[in-house]
Amino acid sequence: RQSTVIITGASSGVGLQAAKALANRGQWHVIMACRDLIKAEKAAKSVEMPTNSYTLMHIDLGSLESVRQFVNNFRATGKTVEALVCNAAIYMPLLKEPLFSPEGYELTVTTNHLGHFLLCNLMLPDLQKSPAADKRLVILGTVTHNPDELGGKIPPRPDLGNFEGFAAGFQDPITMIDGKKFEPVKAYKDSKVCNVLTMRELHNRFHQSTGITFSSLYPGCVATTALFRNHYPQFQKLFPLFQKYITGGFVTEELSGERVAMVVADPEYKQSGIYWSWGNRQKKDGTSFVQKVSPQARDNEKGNRMWDLSYQLVGLG
Ligand code: NDP
Repeated sequence: RQSTVIITGASSGVGLQAAKALANRGQWHVIMACRDLIKAEKAAKSVEMPTNSYTLMHIDLGSLESVRQFVNNFRATGKTVEALVCNAAIYMPLLKEPLFSPEGYELTVTTNHLGHFLLCNLMLPDLQKSPAADKRLVILGTVTHNPDELGGKIPPRPDLGNFEGFAAGFQDPITMIDGKKFEPVKAYKDSKVCNVLTMRELHNRFHQSTGITFSSLYPGCVATTALFRNHYPQFQKLFPLFQKYITGGFVTEELSGERVAMVVADPEYKQSGIYWSWGNRQKKDGTSFVQKVSPQARDNEKGNRMWDLSYQLVGLG
């Protein structure tokens, strides 16, 4: 019997390669949840995914209404779901002025965190409903969420403060979770801290009662993906070389996708509440390990506050 995995942002980079890796295993049908279905179809063809191994479905994580619509559309297919991978993200380091979602929330935090937070909450009953013994929800993390690690030390550092921006309604002119001045790189890092907090809260709240495995991973520095499309052209040229020859953090898109597929499907990764990493200085044949998440991302009080405020902002509360 085939299992179904939903992967957000499967039209490029890590998500596309994860879709390919899972489809190639044979026992997985992949729902590619993407904002641009024409691009996604081309992407699936470009990596030679067998036609019957995937289904394209529209989602715009930058719109909460679209996330709800996606869930309705998915339910209408009558399929069960055994795994959900929250992978889509935007990173817009050169933005001078913030962009906003249709709900009026800053777009990076909406796309990377709030959209996925809503999706996870709405899909939980669907994961629960599947009769499969092994069900997983995986959220992509990143080294830059963690100032305790080399890759996370470069300023600006993520800082959720006491969620002053969320508590004040997170509408223009408020653009940051901590309520401070708009900083697009920090917005990305803050959103990734929220991704890890969300995984940990899901584990704390639902693992025991549902048996679902909740986990996160740092797939390595995948310096060639389109994530850096909004950076200076010079950066896009030099960053992969820097990661390859200086930090040693470079991994190929294929390998990053394989790593996501392993966390979704392999028995070694069935433990819940875990953040997996292969380290930032890759060794050949390096193995994964359980990595301690950043002080903010392991703060249960912050987790609770993130949960309550996000719950209200996405309209669940
Ligand atoms: P890419 O930019 O290559 O892929 C991002 C994907 O997200 C694309 O498919 C993109 O769609 C999709 N996406 C963006 N906005 C939306 C939206 N509003 N609705 C639906 N889909 C959307 O980036 P990566 O593959 O590098 O990143 C994937 C994940 O891996 C992210 O969570 C990132 O934080 C994480 N990561 C990446 C690292 C790296 O070095 N690259 C390192 C650590 C973590 P479209 O194709 O239409 O643009």
